Amino acid sequence: MKETAALPAAASGVWVFAEQRAGIVQPISHELLARGRRLADARGAPLTSVLLGPAGDDGLREMIRRGADRVLHVADPALQDFLPEPYSAVTAHLVRERRPDIFIAGATTTGRTLMPLLAVLCHAGLTADCTQLEIDPATGELLQIRPAIGGNIMATIRTPLCRPQMATVRPRSMKPAPPDPGRAGEIERLTVPPELLRSRVRRVAFEPADDEGGGIQKAEVVVAAGRGLKKGANFDLVRRLARALNAGVGASRDAVDRGWIGYPHQVGLSGKTISPRLYFCAGISGSVQHLAGIKTAEHIIAVNLNPDAQIFKVADYGVVADLFELLPLLTEKLEARKKSARAPGTEGSG
Ligand SMILES: Cc1cc2nc3c(=O)[nH]c(=O)nc-3n(C[C@H](O)[C@H](O)[C@H](O)COP(=O)(O)OP(=O)(O)OC[C@H]3O[C@@H](n4cnc5c(N)ncnc54)[C@H](O)[C@@H]3O)c2cc1C
Repeated sequence: MKETAALPAAASGVWVFAEQRAGIVQPISHELLARGRRLADARGAPLTSVLLGPAGDDGLREMIRRGADRVLHVADPALQDFLPEPYSAVTAHLVRERRPDIFIAGATTTGRTLMPLLAVLCHAGLTADCTQLEIDPATGELLQIRPAIGGNIMATIRTPLCRPQMATVRPRSMKPAPPDPGRAGEIERLTVPPELLRSRVRRVAFEPADDEGGGIQKAEVVVAAGRGLKKGANFDLVRRLARALNAGVGASRDAVDRGWIGYPHQVGLSGKTISPRLYFCAGISGSVQHLAGIKTAEHIIAVNLNPDAQIFKVADYGVVADLFELLPLLTEKLEARKKSARAPGTEGSG
């Protein structure tokens, strides 16, 4: 028998795929709830969060506080770690039973692996790496918006015939939904048929990648530079300033392509999406592809010689200056401040 997902008329509700690691609900789940809540409100539909594997009660309740109306939790130990076969089989089972209209996941390693498998199992479509999701007010369809043709256009993709309408969105492309302690919702603890939990793949061990530069996705402050640095050795200026600010080091693709710094530092469409409290960048023009990576940065300070640089259109503070003069000056001030703050009996200055 052909396993076809529900026809559009029968499908209802917005689902998000929450992730846990070692039983801890991951931040991507709260980001997805923020997006999911907007979509569910626009559709006048309930928002459901699906979580596979172990998670504490508080983690589950936190998802309700952050926007879920219902949490579907399958806690079986076989789902402790992400394994493509049982995860896709269990998720497809839930989709067939409950027929969500929209199902979104993070474009994380898990989401990028799970969602294509699920799309095949449910005979649905999938738009990967969306930057924006909207509801078409005329049709109620999900508008899946993402860069296309080398990032030169924004494409809007619809799924009129299959359900669920499925999309992945980049981590940190939306702020997590803030918790509302008064929100009420339902937690459903489910068991699934044991045959769904079989896996031909076994998890042997987990070794974190050598995360050189990877810290920029977690850093509160990121100092970045681009082609304006003129040569790779000048990244020392950036690193020194970053140290003074306890910041991560980012870069434009141009700087990475020239081999001045490693790819893990790249910010933008084909690099990392970051969400620091402060993004300080120098010698970066502000191409659309670069800006795609800093949309959720809280504050942006840009240094550029060219007063018409695109980066100034998004910067909260723009400094028209030569980075080779400004960066060392700023670093010296910050270092002196740090030093005096450490010295007993002295007060910070500057
Ligand atoms: C499919 C695709 C994906 C891409 N993905 C990414 C991505 O993920 N990230 C990314 O960054 N780019 C990406 N790009 C490349 C992007 O289009 C730009 O080419 C790149 O961002 C430019 O890098 P830049 O700002 O360092 O260089 P430039 O655009 O050359 O800008 C250098 C800036 O430095 C300034 N400057 C020069 N000297 C000084 C000085 N002494 N003091 C102060 N300022 C100075 C200049 O005025 C200029 O504004 C992508 C492109 C494509 C087609």
